[in-house]
Amino acid sequence: MSESEEIWYQCQRCTNCCKWEGDVVLAEGEVEKIADFLGIPLYEFVKDYTRLRDNRQGLSLIDKEGTTECIMLDGIDCRLQDVKPYQCTGFPNRWNFENWREACEAIPAPRPSPSGGQ
Ligand code: SF4
Ligand code: SF4
Repeated sequence: MSESEEIWYQCQRCTNCCKWEGDVVLAEGEVEKIADFLGIPLYEFVKDYTRLRDNRQGLSLIDKEGTTECIMLDGIDCRLQDVKPYQCTGFPNRWNFENWREACEAIPAPRPSPSGGQ
């Protein structure tokens, strides 16, 4: 196992990753799951909370009007905590990008057990 695989980063809930420009990808099956979680019809969720992704390959959550902040961010909380999109649960441990630590306040921490972590 390489050193990078051994390090796990604990989110500090700075919310920066919910405010970056770009897609909050909704993977297959997540649209239905989130609409159900919010207790609204599927068509209503798609109409009011989603847009076509930049690559036109599927849906993304929209931003709050006039900002780059995700529509589901409520203070420092995600309204979708229990059904958060797969993309959101993976940053920064499953995926990240060059210089990501300049934008993310997560800190190295003991890796959680498989049953209790992201
Ligand atoms: S940018 Fe990093 S520390 Fe901040 S909320 Fe996202 S994962 Fe957590
Ligand atoms: S869905 Fe939640 S975790 Fe993902 S970007 Fe929006 S507010 Fe952040």
